[in-house]
Amino acid sequence: SPRPEPGHGAERPRLVVLSGPSAVGKSTVVAHMRAQHPEVWLSVSATTRHPRPGEIDGKHYRFVDQPQFDKLIANDELLEWAEFAGNRYGTPRQAVLDKLAAGEPTLLEIDVQGARQVRKAMPDALLVFLAPPSWDELVRRLVGRGTETEEVRERRLAAAREELASESEFDVTLVNTTVEDVARELLTLMGVG
Ligand code: 5GP
Repeated sequence: SPRPEPGHGAERPRLVVLSGPSAVGKSTVVAHMRAQHPEVWLSVSATTRHPRPGEIDGKHYRFVDQPQFDKLIANDELLEWAEFAGNRYGTPRQAVLDKLAAGEPTLLEIDVQGARQVRKAMPDALLVFLAPPSWDELVRRLVGRGTETEEVRERRLAAAREELASESEFDVTLVNTTVEDVARELLTLMGVG
């Protein structure tokens, strides 16, 4: 259903939130988009998760310890945050506000709980749900990624089951058929390209 207009004369840039189950392919889609359109700004989240091989601090995430994350919350520096599969993740607020104020296309890639909080904090954000073509495909991707232990994988699959059930809370659903198609649709939704 269409969101209410903000009621401002000038066109205000809209915050776009990409969400959906773990391993559905959110990061791959975003990386593909930004390779073609580097002007799309992506928020770098803070997380207490340990880096995966190849992940760079300050680029993929800002990797922090538990007391540092507590401090971000206590200082009210996060637009939203959530616990996912045993780790905490959060979006630093000020950078997002700055980019929106500068009129730049602004993207968050976060879990479903975080998307819900953004909906409350910023009612005119566009919430996009990335859905897998099928449940089997999602399982295949999560196992095939091979970055998680079996225990972590089980937790993520349990989370994915719940996340899939929240699709109706989103403004738009994109089915992840091919990365090119989804990236193009997302760019169109952001008014880029
Ligand atoms: P991963 O550990 O696979 O990088 O991320 C796990 C989940 O946390 C993914 O669904 C990812 O989109 C989500 N996530 C990443 N950053 C944030 C954030 O800042 N806030 C919230 N709520 N979720 C996030």
